[in-house]
Amino acid sequence: MDDFLCGLTGRVVLPIDPTYQEARQSYNRAIQQYPLILVYCRNKKDVSNAVKWSRRHSVPIRIRNGGHNYEGYSNGDCTLIIDLSEMTCMDLNKSTNQIYLEGGVTNIQVYEFMASKGYPFPGGTCPTVGVGGYALGGGWGLSCRYLGLGCDSLEEIELVNYKGIIKKANRKSNSDLFWACRGAGGGNFGVIVSMKFRLPPRVRKVTLIEIDYLNVSTEEQEVFLQTWQEWLKDADSKITLISRIYNSPEDGLAMLVRGIFYGDPCEAKQSVRDFLILDKAVYNIEYLTFLEAVTIIGSTYPTEEKFQSVSRFVLRSFDSNEISEVVNLIKKRSKGSVFCGLSMYALGGKVSEVDIDNTAFFYRKARFIIWLETIWEDNDFAEVNIEWIKNRFPYLESVTEGSYVNFPYKYLPDYLDEYYGNHVELLRKIKKEYDPFNIFSFPQGIKATGDCYLPLLQNKRKDVSKSKININHRRFRYVAKR
Ligand SMILES: Cc1cc2nc3c(=O)[nH]c(=O)nc-3n(C[C@H](O)[C@H](O)[C@H](O)COP(=O)(O)OP(=O)(O)OC[C@H]3O[C@@H](n4cnc5c(N)ncnc54)[C@H](O)[C@@H]3O)c2cc1C
Repeated sequence: MDDFLCGLTGRVVLPIDPTYQEARQSYNRAIQQYPLILVYCRNKKDVSNAVKWSRRHSVPIRIRNGGHNYEGYSNGDCTLIIDLSEMTCMDLNKSTNQIYLEGGVTNIQVYEFMASKGYPFPGGTCPTVGVGGYALGGGWGLSCRYLGLGCDSLEEIELVNYKGIIKKANRKSNSDLFWACRGAGGGNFGVIVSMKFRLPPRVRKVTLIEIDYLNVSTEEQEVFLQTWQEWLKDADSKITLISRIYNSPEDGLAMLVRGIFYGDPCEAKQSVRDFLILDKAVYNIEYLTFLEAVTIIGSTYPTEEKFQSVSRFVLRSFDSNEISEVVNLIKKRSKGSVFCGLSMYALGGKVSEVDIDNTAFFYRKARFIIWLETIWEDNDFAEVNIEWIKNRFPYLESVTEGSYVNFPYKYLPDYLDEYYGNHVELLRKIKKEYDPFNIFSFPQGIKATGDCYLPLLQNKRKDVSKSKININHRRFRYVAKR
């Protein structure tokens, strides 16, 4: 065994190790996969060694940081997981106006670090999501209409390529790779071991917005969706909201709004008045530090859950029939579902000011992302919940365009077109140049033409421990009140 592992540096976890069963888990516990080896890298050299080792032994690679990919694409049976979660150095340089992050930093780590220096950060809502995984896929956050997507602040990356060599990419050097990594970078071109982001303006306080509507009717959900799409047409770019219509045993049919306004509560209240005057609105509008606001939003996330979901971009207003149909999608939960909902993530503002071809993120002109999900607890209901999404996808698809790669769906037909629109061909060319043998691959990855260099080791599957674990998981309700 020692000979087999020779060359791998960092903390290695094997199926025989007591920590393996937990280490192999992804956020979405509905997906159970059994990697051959996990290597927790501590520096770039460990990453480079892992890439070289995988090629010597023909073991496919998966790159992992926060492990939050909805379909478990940072994991895989019989793979070598290159895990970056122990590479968490951060450095703020005022003279270059940049923050340097190692590839394993998470949202909450960067939020806390930046707050200690007086800055916000255009990160995501879930504290344990990896900043790399988030920004490489675009990166929608509660600051995006004001500061842009996560990838819009990215100024440079360092990547370990398929030869194990470190490459820098920015607007001047390897600019095509840099372009591709801003929207299509997750798992596709190499292991991003560090990132430099432009610093946002310093901010002392922001306004947190929380609005809830419990036990509403279908008609009230329709009015809410209509209000949402009207509000977005000329909303202030200082505000970014997520809204949701949902169905849960505790709240019945319900709705919520969460958001951050870069300004004071009076202005914030004005900005969301259309939502506040709706029947049954209960709200909290509070002036807080940026860190306090993102911590409150983040505190509602569980550490794991079992779910299936699909995302789409919305580029136009729904008419009244379409609004009824969309709301109807969540009227009845699947058997065994403890929550189903349609979340809407506001775009526009700074996001749409960037030219479509400036980064690989294609859907700049979309008004919002819509995300349909169902959550269950008991494994016996997995199949029926997956079918529930499958049955609703055709309607959602018919009134929307394209899917957000950070909210992937494994049953998406033509997934490359759906994720990357007209950018697909250029992305394929860049893939061919920077990873010609598909060393970095996963089920919905961008493929260079030609066969995968590494054979898939189907037979190895037998060697891997497959004992089922009983996870003591918490029931998830995203809207948990404080
Ligand atoms: C609860 C929850 C909340 C979320 N909220 C938001 C949100 O508000 N906004 C949003 O935009 N997204 C959100 N997401 C989606 C999230 O941004 C993506 O799933 C993201 O890719 C996760 O990154 P990760 O490092 O945590 O996950 P991982 O599963 O570790 O990685 C995700 C993908 O990126 C690749 N990858 C990760 N790190 C690197 C690296 N350093 N180099 C190369 N490839 C890498 C992996 O191979 C994989 O394909 C959320 C996800 C969850 C589960």
